[in-house]
Amino acid sequence: AKLMRLDKYLVEMNKGSRTQIKDAAKKGRIQVNGVPEKKTERKIDPETDEVTFDGQAVSYRAMEYIMLYKPQGVISATEDKRHRTVIDLLSGENRSDLFPVGRLDIDTEGLLLLTNDGDLTHRLLAPGKHVDKVYFARIEGKLPETAVEQMAAGLTLTDGTPVMPGKLEILKQWEKGAEILLTIQEGKFHQVKRMFEALGCQVVFLKRLSMGSLKLDPELKPGEYRPLTEEELELLG
Ligand code: URA
Repeated sequence: AKLMRLDKYLVEMNKGSRTQIKDAAKKGRIQVNGVPEKKTERKIDPETDEVTFDGQAVSYRAMEYIMLYKPQGVISATEDKRHRTVIDLLSGENRSDLFPVGRLDIDTEGLLLLTNDGDLTHRLLAPGKHVDKVYFARIEGKLPETAVEQMAAGLTLTDGTPVMPGKLEILKQWEKGAEILLTIQEGKFHQVKRMFEALGCQVVFLKRLSMGSLKLDPELKPGEYRPLTEEELELLG
């Protein structure tokens, strides 16, 4: 099987940061096959070597990355009393280790990444990361002439909250509505809906198309999912 560094393995199994692990090893808290191991850069075979942390077995659980086409009507949480969750859509075994990277509203559909990789989640969602998210929306109401400029300038929501600039592209426009693409980097509650509300319009259909380098696979139908490819995973960083 594939060998990996002991510290990398323990970080992946969520036992702490590399520094914390190094520190724990120095104190003799980590054992490999029953022997305390101080060299965290040594390689282990996660499938055959027995690693313990404070006497507790660290069992191997591979990192998983799933692209889901979230349908409308399910919520982006791991548990809910009233509604089906995105985790309930996964067939088979209990997948309670997986969680969604960010949220889409119950009536929003589109790209949602599910993983058990807390580090990646942090890298994609931490404030200041500026990961582009692209949404397709159908709008009701008349977009102001200056909609593109207002979005580009960074507008203020109706409750006074300022948002960062967004890139608005109008795909189609008619008397009482439009179809648009909007690229934003933040993920405030109902952000896209509220940005259009600030322009006097209403979002009646919302779909996320991409998140950073990750694009919703056009082969997927709502409710369908697949693992990320190696390439998609690498590009995500
Ligand atoms: N903006 C919204 O208003 N809703 C979503 O689900 C995502 C972005």
